[in-house]
Amino acid sequence: MDTYLIRTFGCQMNKHDSERVAGLLRAQGMRPVENAEDADVIVFMTCCVRENADERLRGQVASLKVLKPGGVGGPVIAVGGCIGQRDGQRLLDQLPHVDVVFGTHNISHLPVLIDAAYSQRKPQVEVLDESFEFASDLPGEREHPWHAWIPITVGCDNFCSYCVVPYVRGRERSRPLEQIVSQVEALVADGVLEVTLLGQNVNSYGRDLYGEPRFAEILRAVARTGVARVRFATSHPKDLSDATIAAMAEEPAVMPYLHLPVQSGSDRVLDLMNRVYTRDDYLGLVERLYSAIPGLALSTDVIVGFPGETEDDFNRTMDIVQRCHYDQAFTFIYSPREGTPAAEMDGAVDRAVVQARFDRLVEVVQASALNNNRRLVGTVTEVLFEGPSKRDPLILTGRTPGNKVAHVPVPPGRCADDFAGRILPVIIEEAQTWFLSARLGTNS
Ligand code: SAH
Ligand code: SF4
Repeated sequence: MDTYLIRTFGCQMNKHDSERVAGLLRAQGMRPVENAEDADVIVFMTCCVRENADERLRGQVASLKVLKPGGVGGPVIAVGGCIGQRDGQRLLDQLPHVDVVFGTHNISHLPVLIDAAYSQRKPQVEVLDESFEFASDLPGEREHPWHAWIPITVGCDNFCSYCVVPYVRGRERSRPLEQIVSQVEALVADGVLEVTLLGQNVNSYGRDLYGEPRFAEILRAVARTGVARVRFATSHPKDLSDATIAAMAEEPAVMPYLHLPVQSGSDRVLDLMNRVYTRDDYLGLVERLYSAIPGLALSTDVIVGFPGETEDDFNRTMDIVQRCHYDQAFTFIYSPREGTPAAEMDGAVDRAVVQARFDRLVEVVQASALNNNRRLVGTVTEVLFEGPSKRDPLILTGRTPGNKVAHVPVPPGRCADDFAGRILPVIIEEAQTWFLSARLGTNS
């Protein structure tokens, strides 16, 4: 087997895990390809947080049937990540073209499982209840040479009532602080400019290892490795400390961007969701953040149509979203997940009502994003360039400190690829809802 293709669904943790899968397959002497027809091995890294991710996987695997007429020959198809962990053997029963099922705790075994499936011509299923490894200790194949995902915790102890993550990723476990810092130091020496610290709730980092959260400390330590940019996700509002806000405000390498999921603006719904904060707690936190961190860009997650959500509950969500003037919000229609407490709750909201609420919310979010972006016109900021934009090879794309996409024309006579992985100042000229148009240079 010479070639592989990885398809990744879901969150940043899955993107990180996919980079490890790529590293493992490369170490076997395999190389990546872009089309399923050319691949000897196809790996799906899956997500089961919402129903549509489940459906996408099933659709994509079904579309590969043509490569395995009668179920024989063709590529080895492996399904891992959260759906693999949740469904195990059940997946093989439902999708007979799948050859390997693995979970979230045994990524390092994938090459062995693929080999066994191939040589024995027999499907392999291996799902473990607990991790004996941190995937970040495995060799990786970074998507961008200048960026690295760094899990600082895996798993989650929060059990928000709608969420399947604690069941498929296990209990929260932190990696030792020194290990993370030396990994970042090595990455910086290897040319990495930006790291994103990952965890389902980074703010509780260290609680299991040290008896108390030490997120502010790890943030400062990573920021002082010489890496140009530090980002992190996700922050649970109940655990975001003043020490972390101070680290964000004081460490120049920590980017002024925060993803702070609110989920709902109604105390009644927040309680049913088991989020353990009130709307006033959240609003107070946002006020402290905006006053401590100049130019902070804020994003959030919102769930619409949680069981029993009334018009009044939803109006409170609209109100909190307006008050927080987010730069971006990921809005989700509630989807019941088997095995979670919310799936047993009464009060399913009518689909049409949910859709209408969702549309109203999206409108408010877009208006707020555009309004924030307009205020940036005329200012100078720094962009970390990723390369040419997908739509236009003459436009460079990159990210501002606030994580906004910036589009910049390639200077005449220059090649877009020369700019990939460089941080340069730009002047913002025009604001759109989801991106800024800018030109290279400073005002002076
Ligand atoms: N640990 C992160 C990410 C969790 S999953 C966090 O706490 O934010 C990402 C988002 O998916 C959640 O924030 C939530 O808004 C959404 N989500 C999770 N379960 C969901 C469900 N059953 N239905 C709809 N949205 C859901
Ligand atoms: Fe899910 Fe809540 Fe944990 Fe996030 S904090 S992963 S929403 S249980």
